[in-house]
Amino acid sequence: MALQFKRVLLKISGEALKGNEDIYDKDKLGDVARQVIKLAEEGLQVGIVIGGGNIWRGKLAGTLELHRIEADYMGMLATIMNALAFEATLKKMGFSKVKVYSSLEIKTVTTAYNYRDAREKLDEGYVVIFAGGTGYSYFTTDTGACIRGIEIQADALLMAKNGTKGVYDSDPNANPNAKFLDSLTHSDLVVQNLQVMDSTAATLSRDGNLEIVVFDMNGKDNIIKIAHGDLEATYIK
Ligand code: UDP
Repeated sequence: MALQFKRVLLKISGEALKGNEDIYDKDKLGDVARQVIKLAEEGLQVGIVIGGGNIWRGKLAGTLELHRIEADYMGMLATIMNALAFEATLKKMGFSKVKVYSSLEIKTVTTAYNYRDAREKLDEGYVVIFAGGTGYSYFTTDTGACIRGIEIQADALLMAKNGTKGVYDSDPNANPNAKFLDSLTHSDLVVQNLQVMDSTAATLSRDGNLEIVVFDMNGKDNIIKIAHGDLEATYIK
């Protein structure tokens, strides 16, 4: 099957890169990188947002008796670590056309986010990593992914899940009769409060008319397959 998109924003959670004990599993990082390289070489323009949950999440604030704001900035820094880990992995595998933009300024290792530059880089065949989430506390990387997806005018946000093939009408782990939904509208997503992304991200994707494809990244070549429309998934349009 041919590529079904020209430009995508791939959202991966930090958890997807996590090892049993360590914050990273080398094989998981390498597997995502291998698939992204393959797609980029086929001509797909790939932007990526990686969460930070393998390292730190703002909601852990209470464990250190921190204010949520400090904890959220720590979470955003975690996403920058993940972006650098992914960039380094791509380069180690021989793919050097990669650019890391960050919403939080860390000049030594990232470039300040600029949507026009990012679009140009994508046109030039660079894999573009968007780190730092939205750059604001009280948001998530899902929201960051929607904003970046809209701003780079992606054909779709490929929303990778770990072990769930898409969206169900109820929690499939709790309800064996949960019904799989292969297509939805943005309004369904917002109104039915389906557990795909937080409500801010859902509303934004609707306002920006960003198509979302929710798919299971756990499976051989599933990122490659979804880019070719060759995997069961939920399409939100
Ligand atoms: N975060 C934030 N603003 C953003 C994006 C992320 O404050 O725009 C913080 C927030 O604390 C969040 C953490 O960074 O818990 C890690 O991001 P997220 O939980 O979205 O990562 P994922 O679950 O996708 O790994």
